[in-house]
Amino acid sequence: MRPGQFKPYYVYRFLRWKLGNRSPLTAVAKVTNNCNLRCDHCPWWRRDIEDASTEEWKRILKIVRDQGVIHLVLEGGEPTTRDDIDELISYAKELGMLVMLITNGLRDLKRHHPDSYWISIEGVGDTHDKNRGRGVFDKIVKNIKNNRDANIIVGATINRYNMDQVEEIASFFSPITDGVWFNFMYPYKKAHDIALNPSEQRVIARKIIQLKEENNIISSESYLRSVGMENKNCPSFLTTVIDADTTIRQGCTVEQIEECRCDVCSLGCYGELTQAMKLRLDAIEFLKKTAGLSSHRLLWLR
Ligand code: SF4
Ligand code: SF4
Repeated sequence: MRPGQFKPYYVYRFLRWKLGNRSPLTAVAKVTNNCNLRCDHCPWWRRDIEDASTEEWKRILKIVRDQGVIHLVLEGGEPTTRDDIDELISYAKELGMLVMLITNGLRDLKRHHPDSYWISIEGVGDTHDKNRGRGVFDKIVKNIKNNRDANIIVGATINRYNMDQVEEIASFFSPITDGVWFNFMYPYKKAHDIALNPSEQRVIARKIIQLKEENNIISSESYLRSVGMENKNCPSFLTTVIDADTTIRQGCTVEQIEECRCDVCSLGCYGELTQAMKLRLDAIEFLKKTAGLSSHRLLWLR
């Protein structure tokens, strides 16, 4: 597709994928492993990889855009600890990508201008602070309330510590954000004790489906119904993962840490992509909301 030429974008891409094309849709850029917190179960801040320079990141962003990426997820560690994060956001937008910034919500959200924010939470109140530090929960809630003009999604990864809080998470964050997203922790070797097993995941996923009626939960029912089942058709090629040193690997983010075990994986992002590739409309709606896509852009993106 030539620059400047408008097409029914997803129809075009979808048909190409069905014909065997393996171009990525999303790039998950781990722009740093540094973080302003030190959560117990987090593997990322423990890694010893040097961050790449601004110019190197710009070079890589251009490469993935040329490969077909339209949705850039900037994550860490904590991406806002990079002084050049706004420069990278602006550059990605200039290239035509929609930018989501995943953050722990501690830095002032007004400082940055992504298409959408994704604030990761552990739970409500003390459940959040137990892992992240005392007083952190109140700070991020204040930050969210001070930035209601931004597109803010709150994402909770369910594990043994917060599995009893799904109702509280949904009811607390639904009124003050643009949506609540639930994910299920992958049983990394370091997090094996706190990740739920597939049958426990299925019970919680059913509960979340019921909660969707009265709360602004954006996780699709199609994905939630697939939780705890073996994910045989994960289209992980749709994602390109870029490490902090700008090593690019197309495929699943788990591979950055250890060997994939798809039979116990219910990761939400890949689960939603799996459903979207089956043309489940609620999963496509999820992708639109998280990317900050309007229907017009979805159909007529360059
Ligand atoms: S805030 Fe996120 S990236 Fe930072 S240490 Fe905690 S889990 Fe890891
Ligand atoms: S481990 Fe999960 S995300 Fe990775 S390829 Fe398997 S199902 Fe997909």
